[in-house]
Amino acid sequence: MNAPASRWTRADIARLDHEDRLAHLRARFLVPEGVVYLDGNSLGCLPAGVEERIQRLMREEWGNDLIKSWNIHDWIDLPRRVGAKIARLIGAEDNEVVAADSTSVNLYKLLAAALKMRPDRRVILTEADNFPTDNYMMQGLSALVGGVEVRAIARDAITDAIDENVAVVSLTHVNYRTGQIYDMAGVTDAAHRAGALTIWDLSHSAGAVPVYLNEAAADFAVGCGYKFLNGGPGAPAYVFVASRHFDEAISPLWGWLGHAKPFDFSGDYAPGDGIDRFQCGTPALLSLVALDAALDAFDGVEIPALYGKAQRLGDLFLDLVDSELGNSDLEIACPRKADERGSQVSFTHPNAFEIVQALIDRDMIGDYRAPDIARFGLTPIYLRYSDIGRGVELLKDVMDQEAWRDPRYQTRGKVT
Ligand SMILES: *Cc1c(COP(=O)(O)O)cnc(C)c1O
Repeated sequence: MNAPASRWTRADIARLDHEDRLAHLRARFLVPEGVVYLDGNSLGCLPAGVEERIQRLMREEWGNDLIKSWNIHDWIDLPRRVGAKIARLIGAEDNEVVAADSTSVNLYKLLAAALKMRPDRRVILTEADNFPTDNYMMQGLSALVGGVEVRAIARDAITDAIDENVAVVSLTHVNYRTGQIYDMAGVTDAAHRAGALTIWDLSHSAGAVPVYLNEAAADFAVGCGYKFLNGGPGAPAYVFVASRHFDEAISPLWGWLGHAKPFDFSGDYAPGDGIDRFQCGTPALLSLVALDAALDAFDGVEIPALYGKAQRLGDLFLDLVDSELGNSDLEIACPRKADERGSQVSFTHPNAFEIVQALIDRDMIGDYRAPDIARFGLTPIYLRYSDIGRGVELLKDVMDQEAWRDPRYQTRGKVT
C-alpha cells in the first residue's frame, strides 16, 4: 500500500504559525538563523536577556563591587529567588524550591533524606529505564549505606510493586527516551497508601509540561536548569521539598550554606530552615545569574498553554512522518496520544545515530540516545510549526536518499 497523501501543505503549516498566539515568545530567544533546533531538552536556546545580565554581573558586581556583592546585590539569597521562579512553573510554593548543585547531586540528597525518614524500610523503587544518572545515584547510595536495595523494574509494574518495604519511589516524570509521562498524582497516591515517599525528577518536564507538585501531594522533586528552563550549559539544578517535610527532611551533605547560621562559623552543624538546608557549598554565581535571567523568558507565560502547543507540534511531526515517511523503517517510539507524551517525539531505527548525524549536518539538531533512539525535543516557547515542517522535509530527504550511509556520519564524538 502507498503512503497516504499528505494532509499538510506548507501553506497550511504557515497558517498555524500565523494563528499561533504564542508565536511572539520566540523573540525572547536568540535562535540561530536557518537552524531547526529540536534539542532544547538537552540544552535550551539562549534567552535574549541573559548576555546583558551577565555583562552587568561582570562589570558592576564581580568587576567593581567584588565581595560586597554578596550583600549589596543579594547574591546570597539568589538560590532562593531562582528557586521561587522555578516553583511557579512546577506547582510549588516559593519557599519550597532552591536552586543548587546538579540534578544528580540533588537526587542523592533527597534519596538519603527519604531513607532517613523511613528507617524501617530499605527499598528504593525505580524504573529500569530511568535516566542512568538517577539510578547510578541510587546504586552509589546503596553501596555506601549497606542494606539498601535498589529495585529497578519495568515501568508498568511500578504501582503494584510499592509494598511495605519501599521507603521511596524515585521516578522521572517524563521519560528521556520515549517521552512517556507518569501519572504523578496516581503514583504518589499509591506510594502514600503504602507508606512510601516519592521523588520526582522533572528534568524533562519543567518549562514545557505542566507539573502540579503540591496538587499531587508530591514529597520531593529535582530537575535540570539547562533543558526546557534554558538556563545555559551546566546551569544549576533545583530541589523541591514539600513544606510538611521541612522539619524531618535532612540533607546528607552538611555544607555551611545549608547551616542555620553560616556566618557564625560555629564548630557544629545545625540545619538551616526549610529548603535552605538543601544548599551545600557556595553557588556557581555566573551560572546562577544566567539561570535567573533566563527564567524571565517565562514571565506571563502559562505552562498549560505552552504544553498545548508542544502537543500540537508533536502531533504535526507524527502526522507528517506518517504521511511522508510511512514507508521508511523509522518506528515511532513515543506515545501517539498527545496527553501521554511529554514535549518531544522519538523514533527507533537501527541506524539512529547516523541519521541524527546526517540531520545535524543539514542544520536540523536532534539527538541520539543509545541504543537506537532518534529524539527530537519540541520546545514550545520558541519553536514554530514551520520548523517541524522543515525538519520533516530534511528527515525525509535523509531517509529517501539514504544519506545517513555516508561514512562521515559514523564517527562518534564523546558526547552524542
Ligand atoms: C538530564 C537529566 C539529568 C542530568 O543530571 P545532571 O546531574 O545535570 O548531569 C538527570 N536526570 C534526568 C532524568 C535527566 O533527564
